[in-house]
Amino acid sequence: MPLCFDLDGTLGQFGGGYVLLRKALGDLWGQEPTVDQLRRCTGSTDWEIMGELHAMRFGAPMSEAHYAAYESACLARFEAAFHPQGHAPTAFRGLIDGMARLVDAGRSVWLVSGNVPRVLAFKAGLLGVDPRIPRLGSLPRLDRAGLIRMAMAGCKGPHLYVGDRPHDRHAAEQAGVPFLGVGDMVPGDHPILPPEALAEHLVSAVGRLLGPHPGPCQGPARA
Ligand SMILES: [Mg+2]
Repeated sequence: MPLCFDLDGTLGQFGGGYVLLRKALGDLWGQEPTVDQLRRCTGSTDWEIMGELHAMRFGAPMSEAHYAAYESACLARFEAAFHPQGHAPTAFRGLIDGMARLVDAGRSVWLVSGNVPRVLAFKAGLLGVDPRIPRLGSLPRLDRAGLIRMAMAGCKGPHLYVGDRPHDRHAAEQAGVPFLGVGDMVPGDHPILPPEALAEHLVSAVGRLLGPHPGPCQGPARA
């Protein structure tokens, strides 16, 4: 029974993340993609967004080798920006601690995010996301709903996706799972928690949404 959480805007904020993405691609291309090009991207995962920017520049699909190179460049930019003497992210501490409490209570909890996997691992570490929680970042050929389905594979329901943007709610609908919003940027009748919610608020919101849980599932092999 995976409870899946988005990261950016849901568990914390890394201000200027898309600036770093543009800079990372600029490191490789010698010229950054423009803000307008980034705005024209319709995907919500790095595989989709980097693929769209790649196609705009080269007029051809992005390969997995390109994606791996973009991932390394992005990670280098994030590591250079976020460190003890540099920038620090804003962590939504109560929600992050609440995820650990859900694990303690026997729930299966996953991080399912549109970040390239190594950047997701880096960000999750900086935010102090419990290391027992599997990280599932953006993989080739999968959109966000595909990532949620991958986390769900082999697990009995109920499932849940927690996110902060309309694309998160849309992906939850596509995957057929209920949605819990963080913040007020997603219109709809789903339940909402504020970013400053305490751990117990998250635990009780999940309990209200899903009821008693049947115990943890093993889930699929980690990606
Ligand atoms: Mg988000």
